[in-house]
Amino acid sequence: MSYDSGSSPTSDAPVDQAPVPSASAGPAPGRGPAAPTRHALTVDLEDWHQLSYSHVTRGSCETTANVVTDTHHILDLLAELDLRATFFVVGLVATAFPDLVREVAAAGHEIGGHTCDHQTLYSMTPAELKADLERSRRQLQDLTGQPVISFRAPAFSVGSMANESFFETLAEAGFECDSSVFPVAGLRYGIPDAPRYPFVVQTASGPIHEFPLATWDLGRYRLPVAGGTCFRFLPSIFLEHVVGDLDAGGHTATFYFHPYEFHHGLLHLSGLTWHDRLQTMYVKRLVMHNLFTGSVGERWGSLLAGHRFLPIGDLHRDEPIT
Ligand SMILES: [Zn+2]
Repeated sequence: MSYDSGSSPTSDAPVDQAPVPSASAGPAPGRGPAAPTRHALTVDLEDWHQLSYSHVTRGSCETTANVVTDTHHILDLLAELDLRATFFVVGLVATAFPDLVREVAAAGHEIGGHTCDHQTLYSMTPAELKADLERSRRQLQDLTGQPVISFRAPAFSVGSMANESFFETLAEAGFECDSSVFPVAGLRYGIPDAPRYPFVVQTASGPIHEFPLATWDLGRYRLPVAGGTCFRFLPSIFLEHVVGDLDAGGHTATFYFHPYEFHHGLLHLSGLTWHDRLQTMYVKRLVMHNLFTGSVGERWGSLLAGHRFLPIGDLHRDEPIT
C-alpha cells in the first residue's frame, strides 16, 4: 500500500510521489480568479440515544425516533441554504427508518456507509469488516437505488496509516472514497502523521480517495476543527477564521456533524438504573454532548452560508485526486 498526497504545504507526512494537482491544490498562478475552495460537508446519521444506551449499559435498545426528528432539523437547514452533504448512515438506522434514508437521498444528498451497527474497526477481524461493509453497502444501495461509494469508520477508528487491511478491504467491498482519517495527535482516534488534505491510498484492490477530517495548526498545536465537541467549544469567530484561511490556501477540508447536535431539549437516556446513571461515562457524555449543543445550528448556519460545501461524492467525481 502507498499513498499519494496532493499539495499539502503543512503536512509532514511521507509521500512517495511528488505533489500533484488535486482537489486540495491551491489556485494555479496565471489562471485568473480562482474558483471558491470547495469543502466536504458530512453528517454521521446515527441515533445518539441508541448508541449512548449501548455504551453505558453494554446492552442494546431499539433505534429511537429522535434520529428522525433531529435529522429533519438538519435537512431543513441544508434546504434553506441550498446545500447538499454526504450522510454516512448506520445500518441500524436504515433498518429502523428506511423512509428517512430514502428521504435524505431524494433531497439530493449522498448516502455513504457507516457500518451495520456502529462497531469500531478495532473490534472486527478483516473478514468481519468485509462482510459488514458489503452488507451495509448493499442495504443502502437497495434502499436508495444509488451507488454507495463513500465510507466513514465509526469513531474514526482506523488506528494508523499502516492499517493496510482497512483500506484494501474498503476497496474490495466497492468503496471509492473514505473520510475516517483524523490527522491530529492526542486523541484516541488521531493519526498525526497522515496528510491534512485529500490524498489517495493505493491498495492491491484499487485506490481509496481519502478526505481527512479538518484540522488547524495553532503554533505547535494541531486542533481538530472538523466537528464534534471541539467544534462546539471553539469560538465562532475562530472557526470563521479557520475556514477562511483554508479557503485562501485552496485547501479542501472535511467537516461533520451529527443529528443529536440538532436535538431540541436536553439529551439524556431514560430507563437507566441508578448505577448506570452515575457511571462516569454517562455523566461525561451528558456534559460533553449537551454543552453548547443548542447553538450548533446557528453556528453551522453562518459558516455554511459563507463558504462552499459539497458532498464527498461530488468532489470526487468533479475533480478526482490523482
Ligand atoms: Zn458514528
